[in-house]
Amino acid sequence: MLVVDDTVAWVGAEGAAEVHVDSAAEVVDLEDALVAPAFVDAHVHLTETGLARDGLDVAGVESLTALLDRVAERARQRPGEAILGFGWEEDAWPERRAPSPAELDRAASGAVVYLARRDVHTAAVSTALLAGDPSVKAADGYDDGLVRRDAHRRARRTARSAVAADRLQALRVDSLRHAAAVGIGAVHEMGTPQISDAADFAAVRALGSDPGLPDVIGYWGALGAGEAQALGAVGAAGDLNLDGSIGSRSARLTSPYADAPGERGRLDLDVDAATEHVVACTRAGIQAGFHCIGDEAIKVAVQALSAAAAQCGLAAVVGSRHRLEHVEMVDDGVMAELARLGVVASVQPAFDQLWGGDSGLYVDRLGPERGVSLNPFASMARAGVLLAFGSDSPVTPLAGWETVRAAAYHRTPSERLSARAAFSAATRGGWRAARVEDAGVLAPGMRATFAIWEVPGELVVQAPDERIAAWSTDPRAGVPGLPDLSPGAGLPRCLRTVVRGRTVYTG
Ligand SMILES: [Zn+2]
Repeated sequence: MLVVDDTVAWVGAEGAAEVHVDSAAEVVDLEDALVAPAFVDAHVHLTETGLARDGLDVAGVESLTALLDRVAERARQRPGEAILGFGWEEDAWPERRAPSPAELDRAASGAVVYLARRDVHTAAVSTALLAGDPSVKAADGYDDGLVRRDAHRRARRTARSAVAADRLQALRVDSLRHAAAVGIGAVHEMGTPQISDAADFAAVRALGSDPGLPDVIGYWGALGAGEAQALGAVGAAGDLNLDGSIGSRSARLTSPYADAPGERGRLDLDVDAATEHVVACTRAGIQAGFHCIGDEAIKVAVQALSAAAAQCGLAAVVGSRHRLEHVEMVDDGVMAELARLGVVASVQPAFDQLWGGDSGLYVDRLGPERGVSLNPFASMARAGVLLAFGSDSPVTPLAGWETVRAAAYHRTPSERLSARAAFSAATRGGWRAARVEDAGVLAPGMRATFAIWEVPGELVVQAPDERIAAWSTDPRAGVPGLPDLSPGAGLPRCLRTVVRGRTVYTG
């Protein structure tokens, strides 16, 4: 492969490459390494990722007592500092409840504490945090030390203001460097006033112009096109919420949660408001989109997109390539509509690994039938829906191969993608989701954004079901192989990440 400036100029066989050796400024012998398009993480929150990486990681903590022990340990290590933590889930704890402010005060010796639940839609806070902004307690969503919705937004702002500006900036850079180190060449930053502010979004976007870091493609989740355009976002999409999350029982369902009779979650926008948003963005020539997880919220999104097509013309809507985040509960009718309207499904395979299967959180919340039907990647791909993969970091870690593996080994076997289709969604899908057509494939004229990998074994062709797709694994079919991603197999190690011809990571 020959790279000239920021572009792939030539790709061919080793023998033919010799012609170009003399004119090349640098020759890299790949030996047995694999070169592949860099990953694109289509849904991240960079500052939050940095805060989570630096903060208290309480994912996997097994009880409320253990959580409080971790808080106490942190308070001893960094006395007087605010404690920001992420990742607790009370469902599997013997206590089956979140910590109270009094418990956090005792554990943290009175420090400011903000501990986000795994889905980052709920957090537990200490008395010192509540004292920092008395409006939290009065806000919608405050419930005895637990914060959701507006109360959560305010509490999060207070927690973040306890971190110095230069520290925040260092954490953003650290997160992007970490992305580069796992072979990610670009991230989609999902800014929204619900989580942060325009200054934070601007700081994150600016890092994308740093030649030593991956690209940052910014989305701003606010209604209308004007604000997003003024902030330099490519779309008014991302975490513009139609609903919440399944873990917090705030994803909007058509029929109630299995473990909370009568509860159907919340709906943040009605069809008219959502339609107005899609129409405004379509007319402005930018992408529109929503965060929608529950089946009723997704239906509202589809109705809005369809109504916008009636107003602006189907071609204008399809050409806008609007996008929906998460889209976890979709039936065949909805998938057909998403395909017809040219909508990108920006999905998170790691959610299925964490919460899917026949005994996970989804089944707890939704019952055995609905619970195993979430995140139907194979069905969406068959229906013609364009898929892009993301992590929603810090909800799940920034990752490339783990994401591909999660989709290739979906916990519901009928929804497994081939490794190749999954890899494509994790690379080219992310570019196409942002309407970038000249990236994600290593061919002449395309952006030279790629990663070089040390692969522990042979390259293989993995099919979702060998009984019906064995032909494609035959070497004579000429399907390029990928690393073996079967569960338990060692994953590739990143040797170098290159973004538009610039090396942003070597390892
Ligand atoms: Zn998000």
